[in-house]
Order: sequence, then C-alpha cells, then structure tokens
Amino acid sequence: MKITLLGTGGYFPNRRRHTACLMIPEIGVVLDAGTAAYQIQQHLETESLDIFLSHAHLDHVFGLTCLLNLFDGQGARRIRVHGEPEKLEVVEQCLFNKLLFPVAPPCTFTPLADSVALPQGGRLTWFPLEHPGGSVGYRLDWPATDTEPARSLAYVTDTIARPDAAYLEHIQGVELLVHEAYFNDDERDWAELTGHSCATDVAQNAAAAGAKQLVMVHMNPMCESDQPLDLAMAREAFAELVVAEDGMVVEF
Ligand SMILES: [Zn+2]
Ligand SMILES: [Zn+2]
Repeated sequence: MKITLLGTGGYFPNRRRHTACLMIPEIGVVLDAGTAAYQIQQHLETESLDIFLSHAHLDHVFGLTCLLNLFDGQGARRIRVHGEPEKLEVVEQCLFNKLLFPVAPPCTFTPLADSVALPQGGRLTWFPLEHPGGSVGYRLDWPATDTEPARSLAYVTDTIARPDAAYLEHIQGVELLVHEAYFNDDERDWAELTGHSCATDVAQNAAAAGAKQLVMVHMNPMCESDQPLDLAMAREAFAELVVAEDGMVVEF
C-alpha cells in the first residue's frame, strides 16, 4: 500500500510545503485536511472519501473549504469527515460559518467511533495526544493474508514526543510511523509551550516503539531549506529517518 504525502509542513504553507494532508488513494482515506487538500482531486481513485482529522487547528482543517472541486461531476460523491465531536462542531460552526465560507460543506461530519473498518480488511483506531485543545493520533492496521504480510501505519501529530508519552503503547511495532517534528532539539522550551516535538525525541520514540520506517512531517515553516531540521543526533537514534517533502510517496 502507498501513502501520498500531499502536505508536509506545519502551521502555515511556505514555498516548499503545504500544511498537513496525507492520502492513501487506493482506499480513499485522507489524514488531515490542511492547505494541501485541494490536491486530493488529482489523486482520487475511489467513489467515496473518508477524511480523519487529528484536531481542528487551521493547519489541519483549512483544506475542507477546498473540496467543492470534488463535485465537478466526475469526482467523489460521498465525503465523510471523522474527528472528535467537539472538533467537528467547531469546524461546522466556525469554518463553515456563512460569513467565512458561503457554501454548505460538501461532506458529512461523523464523530469517531472506537474503531473504523477500512477497505481490504483493515481497521483504524485512534488515541489521544498531548496538545493545546487536544489532538488524536491514528493507527491503521491490515492483518496478514495468504499473499501479503501484515501492514500498519501510525500518524502522530501535533504532540510532544516525551519519552514516557502515553501514545507509545499504541504505535508499538508499527511498520510506518509518520510523526510530526516541528522543532530542532535546542527549541525544547517552544516545543513545551506550543505542544510540539523536537526531532531527536521523535527519533528516540520511533526506535522505542520498534517502528520499521520513520517519516517526519509538520516541520516549522520558517525553515524553507531542504534541510529544515538538524538531524545529526536524531540519526543516531533512528538512522534511516526521512524528512517528508510534498508529493512524496511512501510504501508500507
Ligand atoms: Zn498543526
Ligand atoms: Zn495543532
């Protein structure tokens, strides 16, 4: 299975990175709807789309206002947006307030159940993360079949990668971990204040969880270079880590 990283930056878009939006085209699953969500149409392979929101901060939901292009007569007919009830409520009432956006949202809002069945026998589960106002992480699992080994993906943003973070138990043994890494290691005070992670802490948590692959997303948009993070220490903890760029496709 392949995940396309449409938007890999945090907070606001810069010239290299849009804000959070990941897509698994073959099953019509999208994780977060930041500014990159306008690109969903180009990758659409399914009749319906399920969008799972980590939380309601604007860098994760703004792109919900860019989905009208999916209703041009050939796009997806059914879009469900999943999230915690209070986050969905604020999106409906504020983002889609007629003074901010004049058209009714082209989707239905679905509060998160304990777990959600996915195509190809998969299952999505979620778990709380430490972040101002709260965020949730997602884990998607497919059991092994006669022809395929088990596959799994975890998406962890926005949160503080503490060594004793409660989310660690939910991402044990995951094949692909997509984790935010907003700050460099010397910005830990800012990470605490804003509820984000420092790069080496993320790498250490990925190693502690036994993740096979680590992809860092949601980097600080103030750093527009192709090396937005100082990763010397982080690579000691997780040598093969990858810093995401928009448009990157990762197989898991
Ligand atoms: Zn964010
Ligand atoms: Zn946030």
